Amino acid sequence: MSNQDLELVSVTKRYGATVAVDAINYCFKSDSYTCLLGPSGCGKSSTLRMIAGHESVSDGSIVLDGRDVSHLPPAQRGTAMMFQNYALFPHLSVLDNVAFSLKMKGVDTAKRHAEAREMLELVDLTDLAARLPDQLSGGQQQRVALARALITRPQVLLLDEPLSALDPFLRIRMRGELRKLQKELGISFIHVTHGQDEALALADDIIVMNNAVIEQAGPARDVFNAPQTQFVAQFMGGHNVLALPDGHFAIRTDAVSISAPTDGAVEGNVTAIEYQGTHVSLSAMITDNQEILALIPDSTFFANPHTPGDRIGLHWDSKDQHKLTA
Ligand code: ADP
Ligand code: MG
Repeated sequence: MSNQDLELVSVTKRYGATVAVDAINYCFKSDSYTCLLGPSGCGKSSTLRMIAGHESVSDGSIVLDGRDVSHLPPAQRGTAMMFQNYALFPHLSVLDNVAFSLKMKGVDTAKRHAEAREMLELVDLTDLAARLPDQLSGGQQQRVALARALITRPQVLLLDEPLSALDPFLRIRMRGELRKLQKELGISFIHVTHGQDEALALADDIIVMNNAVIEQAGPARDVFNAPQTQFVAQFMGGHNVLALPDGHFAIRTDAVSISAPTDGAVEGNVTAIEYQGTHVSLSAMITDNQEILALIPDSTFFANPHTPGDRIGLHWDSKDQHKLTA
């Protein structure tokens, strides 16, 4: 572990009788983009707020750079948080919003404006420095909030659902910009989201949380390709979860192919066909009332089409069948 890493050691958050975060352990690598992913209420924001210092730790510790920061105020941790609602000051110009934390530290006007301009350049807002927040679009306000967080030169930038207020088009553009910015700055970004597509698009590493604990963590492709639990397989999507005689397994829907019924193949009845442009999604009922979804390239499907009611064979490679532990 390099000493730049951020480590959570048995971190717990209790609100009265509610355990929002239950003794989680994780080491965030330096210079990486990590997404904290999970359904609403699983403890993502509580985790992020404890790292930021906006929420106290009930138990355990947070170590950054080899230093226990668990009880330091937010400004002394080396972290910065970008809020979901951006929380910009309406009466301050873009430039002064960005420079605000330096003003609080007593940095003189010329110096803090120079630094704020540098940050505005980074987020591509140089021309809008004199505007007020309500003269900006949602995407621009967000970039101001980003510049304002980055001016403190944090080692770790914390983002809580930063894209959720944007329309779908802007969301996809901004996530590309976030990813690029993280690589340019070479600091760690920790980004909370409940969207698996967002996490896959952005993250080097994904932490999947459920019910206050970490279900699985690792490189994004590993989490998607080899889910360890039923919850992760279902939450990440794109997988069948099958109960077979020797346990529960996850099989990617695009790893399932179909044929006429053949010896040795799993057999099923087609229940639904859905055309999705590049692919056709075919559902089939096999034994024990279990449904399998096969995502078939459109040209493959239409070379040999099926309709609901057809009896078919279903195939997949044993290497694509991942045993689930829970
Ligand atoms: P997420 O960000 O994953 O949606 P949160 O960390 O916000 O989850 O919440 C986790 C759990 O803690 C939920 O059950 C939520 O209701 C509870 N919780 C969050 N904040 C507070 C609070 N300030 N007071 C009491 N309970 C809270
Ligand atoms: Mg939240």
